[in-house]
Amino acid sequence: MNAVILLGAPGSGKGTQAARLAESLGMPHISTGAILRQAVTDGTELGVAARDIMAAGRLVSDEIVLGIVEARVSAHDCRRGFILDGYPRNRAQARALGEVLSRLGATEWIANIAVPAEELAARVRGRRGTDGRQDDSEEAFRRRLEVYESESLPLLDYYGDRASNVSGLGSRDEVFGRLCAALPFATAQLVTQ
Ligand code: ADP
Repeated sequence: MNAVILLGAPGSGKGTQAARLAESLGMPHISTGAILRQAVTDGTELGVAARDIMAAGRLVSDEIVLGIVEARVSAHDCRRGFILDGYPRNRAQARALGEVLSRLGATEWIANIAVPAEELAARVRGRRGTDGRQDDSEEAFRRRLEVYESESLPLLDYYGDRASNVSGLGSRDEVFGRLCAALPFATAQLVTQ
């Protein structure tokens, strides 16, 4: 079982690349942000608990997101592997994920999509209005970047050599090519398909 963990700032293109990787490899794309947004739309208990936190660009509690991830990765369609997008987002989540993955006997593949901060702000400004995401407002985005820098960036230290750095600049195809090259198991599977 291959567990791909994609790291990257909001606006890094992580979600787009995760979806493409999932499709190419025939593995589920697990986006904690998308699962939470769906819960908000559906007005479930989870959605009600997460709505205001997300709109403000802050992190939903570790306990809640761990519950989401544990349930999702245990599903039958994840038995060959899965792509994680937006989880983990801090060290506590990374430790919890490590335990889940070792219980599942999964091999971890970690890639970080690196994009300079000025470029991130320009991209999110560009998509504002078209995606209709409440957390893309100037203030919420600024908060998301701050949270990313203080909580998520330290994951690069946490994972150290286990994480490959991939430049997120250039076209989507270029980034995808780099990403596949950084994930040897993916390259092998794409070639044999
Ligand atoms: P982005 O990476 O562009 O900020 P996401 O769709 O990944 O967007 O996440 C949107 C929001 O969902 C986050 O700002 C946060 O409030 C919540 N969220 C998603 N994943 C997590 C997580 N692992 N831990 C805590 N909150 C999360």
